[in-house]
Amino acid sequence: AVPISLENCAKTFTDGTRALEPVDLAIAAGETLVLLGPSGCGKTTTLRLIAGLEQPDAGGRVLFGGEDVTALPIEKRNVGMVFQSYALFPNMSVAENIAYGLRLRRQSAAEQRARVGEMLALMRIERLADRSIDQLSGGQRQRVALARALAVRPRALLLDEPLTALDAKLRDTLRFEIDSLLRELGITAIYVTHDQAEAMALGDRIVVMDHGRIAQVGAPRDIYQRPASRYVAEFIGTMNRLSGHAEGEVFRCPGGYVAWPELPATAREILFRPEDTRIAAEGEAASLHGTVSAAFFCGDHVRLFVDVGEERPLVLETPARREYRHGETVALAVERHGLMVL
Ligand code: ADP
Ligand code: MG
Repeated sequence: AVPISLENCAKTFTDGTRALEPVDLAIAAGETLVLLGPSGCGKTTTLRLIAGLEQPDAGGRVLFGGEDVTALPIEKRNVGMVFQSYALFPNMSVAENIAYGLRLRRQSAAEQRARVGEMLALMRIERLADRSIDQLSGGQRQRVALARALAVRPRALLLDEPLTALDAKLRDTLRFEIDSLLRELGITAIYVTHDQAEAMALGDRIVVMDHGRIAQVGAPRDIYQRPASRYVAEFIGTMNRLSGHAEGEVFRCPGGYVAWPELPATAREILFRPEDTRIAAEGEAASLHGTVSAAFFCGDHVRLFVDVGEERPLVLETPARREYRHGETVALAVERHGLMVL
Protein backbone atom coordinates (compact mmCIF):
# COMPACT_ATOMS: atom_id res chain seq x y z
CA ALA A 1 0.00 0.00 0.00
CA VAL A 2 1.24 3.49 -0.83
CA PRO A 3 0.29 6.91 0.51
CA ILE A 4 -1.12 9.21 -2.15
CA SER A 5 -1.19 12.96 -2.10
CA LEU A 6 -2.59 15.75 -4.18
CA GLU A 7 -0.74 19.04 -3.97
CA ASN A 8 -2.42 22.20 -5.18
CA CYS A 9 -4.52 20.23 -7.69
CA ALA A 10 -7.08 22.29 -9.57
CA LYS A 11 -8.94 21.30 -12.73
CA THR A 12 -10.29 23.58 -15.40
CA PHE A 13 -11.73 21.83 -18.45
CA THR A 14 -11.13 23.13 -21.96
CA ASP A 15 -14.67 24.58 -22.09
CA GLY A 16 -13.78 26.72 -19.09
CA THR A 17 -15.61 24.64 -16.47
CA ARG A 18 -13.78 24.89 -13.17
CA ALA A 19 -14.44 21.42 -11.76
CA LEU A 20 -11.92 21.60 -8.93
CA GLU A 21 -10.47 24.53 -6.99
CA PRO A 22 -6.86 24.01 -5.81
CA VAL A 23 -6.97 21.16 -3.26
CA ASP A 24 -4.39 19.52 -1.05
CA LEU A 25 -5.19 16.04 0.12
CA ALA A 26 -3.10 13.32 1.75
CA ILE A 27 -4.28 9.71 1.79
CA ALA A 28 -2.39 7.42 4.16
CA ALA A 29 -1.09 4.03 3.02
CA GLY A 30 -3.84 1.44 3.44
CA GLU A 31 -6.47 4.04 4.23
CA THR A 32 -9.96 4.08 2.76
CA LEU A 33 -10.74 7.68 1.91
CA VAL A 34 -14.26 8.52 0.78
CA LEU A 35 -15.01 11.50 -1.45
CA LEU A 36 -18.55 12.55 -0.64
CA GLY A 37 -20.75 15.28 -2.08
CA PRO A 38 -23.69 15.99 -4.36
CA SER A 39 -23.58 15.40 -8.09
CA GLY A 40 -21.26 17.81 -9.90
CA CYS A 41 -19.10 18.75 -6.88
CA GLY A 42 -15.90 17.33 -8.42
CA LYS A 43 -15.60 13.83 -6.97
CA THR A 44 -15.05 12.00 -10.25
CA THR A 45 -12.66 14.68 -11.46
CA THR A 46 -10.55 14.24 -8.30
CA LEU A 47 -10.52 10.46 -8.80
CA ARG A 48 -9.53 10.84 -12.45
CA LEU A 49 -6.65 13.11 -11.48
CA ILE A 50 -5.40 10.40 -9.12
CA ALA A 51 -5.86 7.73 -11.79
CA GLY A 52 -4.05 9.72 -14.45
CA LEU A 53 -7.12 10.02 -16.68
CA GLU A 54 -6.95 13.80 -16.28
CA GLN A 55 -4.09 16.21 -15.80
CA PRO A 56 -4.31 18.88 -13.07
CA ASP A 57 -3.97 22.53 -14.06
CA ALA A 58 -0.39 23.83 -14.09
CA GLY A 59 1.19 23.79 -10.64
CA GLY A 60 -0.72 20.73 -9.40
CA ARG A 61 1.10 17.54 -8.44
CA VAL A 62 0.01 13.97 -7.73
CA LEU A 63 2.34 11.85 -5.61
CA PHE A 64 2.32 8.10 -5.01
CA GLY A 65 4.52 7.22 -2.04
CA GLY A 66 6.55 10.39 -2.53
CA GLU A 67 7.06 9.72 -6.26
CA ASP A 68 5.74 12.46 -8.55
CA VAL A 69 3.40 10.66 -10.96
CA THR A 70 1.74 13.79 -12.39
CA ALA A 71 3.15 13.17 -15.86
CA LEU A 72 2.55 9.38 -15.80
CA PRO A 73 -0.39 8.05 -17.83
CA ILE A 74 -2.89 5.66 -16.22
CA GLU A 75 -1.19 2.47 -17.40
CA LYS A 76 2.05 3.46 -15.68
CA ARG A 77 0.41 4.34 -12.35
CA ASN A 78 -0.83 0.82 -11.71
CA VAL A 79 -4.14 1.69 -10.10
CA GLY A 80 -7.27 -0.47 -10.18
CA MET A 81 -10.55 1.20 -11.06
CA VAL A 82 -14.17 0.22 -10.53
CA PHE A 83 -17.05 2.24 -11.96
CA GLN A 84 -20.79 2.45 -11.46
CA SER A 85 -21.29 1.20 -15.02
CA TYR A 86 -19.08 -1.92 -14.49
CA ALA A 87 -17.23 -1.23 -17.79
CA LEU A 88 -16.65 -4.94 -18.38
CA PHE A 89 -16.01 -6.42 -21.83
CA PRO A 90 -19.30 -8.07 -22.85
CA ASN A 91 -17.70 -10.32 -25.47
CA MET A 92 -15.30 -11.92 -22.99
CA SER A 93 -15.93 -14.46 -20.24
CA VAL A 94 -15.60 -13.59 -16.56
CA ALA A 95 -12.15 -15.20 -16.41
CA GLU A 96 -11.02 -13.35 -19.55
CA ASN A 97 -12.24 -10.06 -18.10
CA ILE A 98 -10.28 -10.65 -14.91
CA ALA A 99 -7.19 -11.62 -16.90
CA TYR A 100 -7.40 -8.52 -19.11
CA GLY A 101 -4.88 -6.36 -17.25
CA LEU A 102 -2.52 -9.31 -16.82
CA ARG A 103 -2.55 -9.95 -20.57
CA LEU A 104 -1.80 -6.29 -21.25
CA ARG A 105 1.17 -6.66 -18.92
CA ARG A 106 2.27 -9.77 -20.86
CA GLN A 107 2.19 -12.11 -17.90
CA SER A 108 2.64 -15.80 -18.75
CA ALA A 109 -0.44 -17.97 -19.28
CA ALA A 110 0.36 -19.94 -16.12
CA GLU A 111 0.66 -16.76 -14.09
CA GLN A 112 -2.59 -15.43 -15.53
CA ARG A 113 -4.42 -18.65 -14.65
CA ALA A 114 -3.08 -18.63 -11.11
CA ARG A 115 -3.97 -14.98 -10.52
CA VAL A 116 -7.44 -15.33 -12.04
CA GLY A 117 -8.08 -18.33 -9.78
CA GLU A 118 -6.95 -16.31 -6.79
CA MET A 119 -9.26 -13.41 -7.68
CA LEU A 120 -12.25 -15.68 -8.36
CA ALA A 121 -11.73 -17.19 -4.91
CA LEU A 122 -11.25 -13.80 -3.26
CA MET A 123 -14.57 -12.57 -4.66
CA ARG A 124 -16.21 -15.99 -4.19
CA ILE A 125 -17.28 -16.21 -7.84
CA GLU A 126 -15.38 -19.37 -8.88
CA ARG A 127 -18.50 -20.88 -10.39
CA LEU A 128 -18.92 -17.88 -12.72
CA ALA A 129 -15.48 -18.20 -14.37
CA ASP A 130 -16.74 -19.32 -17.79
CA ARG A 131 -19.94 -17.30 -17.90
CA SER A 132 -20.32 -14.41 -20.25
CA ILE A 133 -20.93 -10.98 -18.79
CA ASP A 134 -24.50 -10.64 -20.03
CA GLN A 135 -25.48 -13.72 -18.02
CA LEU A 136 -24.55 -11.97 -14.77
CA SER A 137 -26.62 -9.94 -12.30
CA GLY A 138 -25.53 -6.43 -11.32
CA GLY A 139 -23.98 -7.63 -8.09
CA GLN A 140 -22.03 -10.37 -9.88
CA ARG A 141 -20.81 -7.89 -12.47
CA GLN A 142 -19.52 -5.60 -9.75
CA ARG A 143 -17.69 -8.54 -8.12
CA VAL A 144 -16.06 -9.28 -11.48
CA ALA A 145 -15.13 -5.62 -11.89
CA LEU A 146 -13.50 -5.67 -8.45
CA ALA A 147 -11.66 -8.90 -9.29
CA ARG A 148 -10.41 -7.38 -12.54
CA ALA A 149 -9.26 -4.21 -10.81
CA LEU A 150 -7.41 -6.14 -8.10
CA ALA A 151 -5.88 -8.80 -10.36
CA VAL A 152 -2.97 -6.57 -11.38
CA ARG A 153 -2.08 -5.98 -7.70
CA PRO A 154 -2.62 -2.25 -8.03
CA ARG A 155 -0.91 0.30 -5.82
CA ALA A 156 -4.32 1.78 -5.06
CA LEU A 157 -7.95 0.95 -5.72
CA LEU A 158 -10.19 3.74 -7.04
CA LEU A 159 -13.94 3.22 -6.88
CA ASP A 160 -16.43 5.61 -8.47
CA GLU A 161 -19.96 5.05 -7.11
CA PRO A 162 -19.60 1.27 -7.51
CA LEU A 163 -22.90 0.48 -5.76
CA THR A 164 -25.12 3.24 -7.14
CA ALA A 165 -26.66 1.10 -9.88
CA LEU A 166 -27.61 -1.73 -7.52
CA ASP A 167 -30.84 -2.17 -5.55
CA ALA A 168 -30.88 -1.36 -1.83
CA LYS A 169 -30.49 -4.88 -0.45
CA LEU A 170 -27.62 -5.77 -2.77
CA ARG A 171 -26.00 -2.45 -2.02
CA ASP A 172 -25.94 -3.39 1.68
CA THR A 173 -24.42 -6.80 0.97
CA LEU A 174 -21.76 -5.46 -1.35
CA ARG A 175 -20.95 -2.57 0.95
CA PHE A 176 -20.20 -5.14 3.62
CA GLU A 177 -18.10 -7.22 1.20
CA ILE A 178 -16.12 -4.22 -0.02
CA ASP A 179 -15.47 -3.13 3.55
CA SER A 180 -14.12 -6.60 4.47
CA LEU A 181 -12.12 -6.77 1.26
CA LEU A 182 -10.41 -3.40 1.76
CA ARG A 183 -9.57 -4.31 5.34
CA GLU A 184 -8.24 -7.73 4.38
CA LEU A 185 -6.08 -6.37 1.54
CA GLY A 186 -4.92 -3.27 3.40
CA ILE A 187 -4.85 -1.47 0.07
CA THR A 188 -5.01 2.33 -0.26
CA ALA A 189 -8.52 3.01 -1.53
CA ILE A 190 -10.37 6.07 -2.70
CA TYR A 191 -14.09 5.63 -2.82
CA VAL A 192 -16.45 8.13 -4.45
CA THR A 193 -20.10 8.31 -3.44
CA HIS A 194 -22.95 10.77 -3.04
CA ASP A 195 -24.51 8.50 -0.38
CA GLN A 196 -23.69 9.71 3.11
CA ALA A 197 -24.63 6.41 4.79
CA GLU A 198 -22.24 4.54 2.49
CA ALA A 199 -19.53 7.11 3.18
CA MET A 200 -19.86 6.76 6.94
CA ALA A 201 -19.91 2.96 6.80
CA LEU A 202 -16.84 2.58 4.58
CA GLY A 203 -14.56 5.55 5.14
CA ASP A 204 -11.66 5.70 7.55
CA ARG A 205 -11.96 9.36 6.70
CA ILE A 206 -14.44 11.30 4.61
CA VAL A 207 -13.76 14.30 2.40
CA VAL A 208 -16.96 16.32 2.05
CA MET A 209 -16.88 18.30 -1.19
CA ASP A 210 -18.84 21.38 -2.22
CA HIS A 211 -18.55 22.98 -5.66
CA GLY A 212 -14.98 21.81 -6.30
CA ARG A 213 -13.83 22.67 -2.78
CA ILE A 214 -13.14 20.58 0.28
CA ALA A 215 -15.72 21.50 2.89
CA GLN A 216 -14.35 19.20 5.62
CA VAL A 217 -12.06 16.21 6.06
CA GLY A 218 -12.37 13.91 9.05
CA ALA A 219 -13.33 10.57 10.53
CA PRO A 220 -17.04 9.78 10.01
CA ARG A 221 -17.75 10.37 13.68
CA ASP A 222 -16.07 13.79 13.70
CA ILE A 223 -17.91 14.90 10.61
CA TYR A 224 -21.24 13.77 12.00
CA GLN A 225 -20.78 15.09 15.52
CA ARG A 226 -18.71 18.18 14.77
CA PRO A 227 -19.63 19.41 11.30
CA ALA A 228 -17.54 22.43 10.33
CA SER A 229 -20.32 24.23 8.52
CA ARG A 230 -24.03 24.21 7.91
CA TYR A 231 -23.39 22.69 4.51
CA VAL A 232 -21.69 19.65 6.08
CA ALA A 233 -24.21 19.46 8.91
CA GLU A 234 -27.11 19.28 6.48
CA PHE A 235 -25.45 16.98 3.96
CA ILE A 236 -24.52 14.31 6.52
CA GLY A 237 -27.52 12.78 8.23
CA THR A 238 -30.54 14.81 9.26
CA MET A 239 -30.20 18.01 11.25
CA ASN A 240 -32.91 19.69 13.29
CA ARG A 241 -32.85 23.46 13.38
CA LEU A 242 -34.50 26.06 15.60
CA SER A 243 -34.25 29.77 14.92
CA GLY A 244 -34.60 32.42 17.60
CA HIS A 245 -32.33 34.23 20.03
CA ALA A 246 -30.37 33.74 23.24
CA GLU A 247 -31.67 34.99 26.59
CA GLY A 248 -28.97 34.11 29.08
CA GLU A 249 -28.84 30.32 29.24
CA VAL A 250 -32.04 29.87 27.31
CA PHE A 251 -32.61 29.82 23.55
CA ARG A 252 -36.05 31.21 22.73
CA CYS A 253 -37.84 30.11 19.57
CA PRO A 254 -41.42 30.03 18.26
CA GLY A 255 -42.06 26.57 19.79
CA GLY A 256 -40.86 27.57 23.29
CA TYR A 257 -37.30 27.45 24.57
CA VAL A 258 -34.28 25.17 24.99
CA ALA A 259 -32.09 25.51 28.09
CA TRP A 260 -28.37 25.35 27.36
CA PRO A 261 -25.78 26.66 29.85
CA GLU A 262 -23.08 26.98 27.16
CA LEU A 263 -25.35 28.87 24.77
CA PRO A 264 -23.38 31.54 22.86
CA ALA A 265 -25.01 34.93 23.42
CA THR A 266 -25.05 35.68 19.67
CA ALA A 267 -26.78 32.42 18.65
CA ARG A 268 -29.59 32.94 16.14
CA GLU A 269 -29.97 29.28 15.34
CA ILE A 270 -29.32 26.02 17.21
CA LEU A 271 -28.86 22.61 15.60
CA PHE A 272 -29.27 19.08 16.93
CA ARG A 273 -29.71 15.57 15.57
CA PRO A 274 -32.97 13.56 15.55
CA GLU A 275 -31.44 11.08 18.02
CA ASP A 276 -30.95 13.93 20.49
CA THR A 277 -34.61 14.88 20.15
CA ARG A 278 -37.30 12.97 22.00
CA ILE A 279 -40.86 13.10 23.18
CA ALA A 280 -40.81 14.44 26.76
CA ALA A 281 -41.60 11.87 29.42
CA GLU A 282 -44.90 11.96 31.27
CA GLY A 283 -44.65 14.62 34.00
CA GLU A 284 -41.34 15.99 32.65
CA ALA A 285 -41.22 19.78 32.52
CA ALA A 286 -41.14 20.36 28.76
CA SER A 287 -40.20 23.69 27.24
CA LEU A 288 -40.77 22.95 23.57
CA HIS A 289 -44.12 22.12 21.99
CA GLY A 290 -45.32 21.36 18.52
CA THR A 291 -47.88 19.46 16.48
CA VAL A 292 -47.35 16.20 14.64
CA SER A 293 -47.25 16.90 10.88
CA ALA A 294 -46.37 13.35 9.81
CA ALA A 295 -45.75 10.01 11.51
CA PHE A 296 -44.19 7.18 9.51
CA PHE A 297 -44.47 3.73 11.02
CA CYS A 298 -41.14 1.96 10.47
CA GLY A 299 -41.79 -1.29 12.34
CA ASP A 300 -39.42 -0.92 15.27
CA HIS A 301 -39.91 2.85 15.55
CA VAL A 302 -41.96 5.77 14.29
CA ARG A 303 -40.30 8.60 12.39
CA LEU A 304 -42.07 11.68 13.60
CA PHE A 305 -42.19 15.15 12.02
CA VAL A 306 -43.17 17.84 14.49
CA ASP A 307 -44.12 21.34 13.45
CA VAL A 308 -42.75 23.82 15.99
CA GLY A 309 -43.36 26.96 13.94
CA GLU A 310 -40.11 26.69 11.97
CA GLU A 311 -39.53 26.59 8.25
CA ARG A 312 -39.05 22.80 8.55
CA PRO A 313 -40.53 20.37 11.07
CA LEU A 314 -38.25 18.74 13.65
CA VAL A 315 -37.52 15.08 12.97
CA LEU A 316 -37.21 12.41 15.61
CA GLU A 317 -37.54 8.67 16.04
CA THR A 318 -39.63 7.31 18.83
CA PRO A 319 -40.68 3.81 19.96
CA ALA A 320 -43.58 2.41 17.94
CA ARG A 321 -45.63 1.22 20.89
CA ARG A 322 -47.66 4.44 20.95
CA GLU A 323 -49.57 5.81 17.97
CA TYR A 324 -49.33 9.44 16.90
CA ARG A 325 -52.14 11.30 15.22
CA HIS A 326 -51.68 14.01 12.65
CA GLY A 327 -52.19 17.41 14.36
CA GLU A 328 -51.70 16.06 17.88
CA THR A 329 -49.74 18.34 20.26
CA VAL A 330 -46.54 16.86 21.65
CA ALA A 331 -43.98 18.06 24.20
CA LEU A 332 -40.34 17.65 23.20
CA ALA A 333 -37.01 17.48 25.00
CA VAL A 334 -33.58 18.03 23.46
CA GLU A 335 -30.46 16.38 24.88
CA ARG A 336 -28.03 19.11 25.86
CA HIS A 337 -24.89 17.25 24.73
CA GLY A 338 -26.23 17.19 21.17
CA LEU A 339 -26.73 20.94 20.81
CA MET A 340 -24.55 22.91 18.40
CA VAL A 341 -24.26 26.33 16.85
CA LEU A 342 -22.59 26.87 13.45
P1 ADP B 1 -19.16 14.51 -9.51
O1 ADP B 1 -18.39 13.27 -9.80
O2 ADP B 1 -18.99 15.00 -8.11
O3 ADP B 1 -20.61 14.39 -9.86
P2 ADP B 1 -17.58 15.67 -11.65
O4 ADP B 1 -16.19 15.63 -11.14
O5 ADP B 1 -17.97 14.62 -12.62
O6 ADP B 1 -18.57 15.71 -10.41
O7 ADP B 1 -17.83 17.07 -12.33
C1 ADP B 1 -17.52 18.31 -11.71
C2 ADP B 1 -17.91 19.43 -12.66
O8 ADP B 1 -17.10 19.39 -13.82
C3 ADP B 1 -19.34 19.37 -13.14
O9 ADP B 1 -19.82 20.68 -13.26
C4 ADP B 1 -19.22 18.70 -14.50
O10 ADP B 1 -20.27 19.07 -15.33
C5 ADP B 1 -17.90 19.25 -14.98
N1 ADP B 1 -17.18 18.35 -15.90
C6 ADP B 1 -16.83 17.06 -15.67
N2 ADP B 1 -16.14 16.55 -16.72
C7 ADP B 1 -16.07 17.54 -17.64
C8 ADP B 1 -15.50 17.64 -18.95
N3 ADP B 1 -14.83 16.63 -19.52
N4 ADP B 1 -15.62 18.83 -19.59
C9 ADP B 1 -16.27 19.87 -19.03
N5 ADP B 1 -16.83 19.84 -17.81
C10 ADP B 1 -16.74 18.70 -17.11
MG1 MG C 1 -19.11 11.43 -10.48
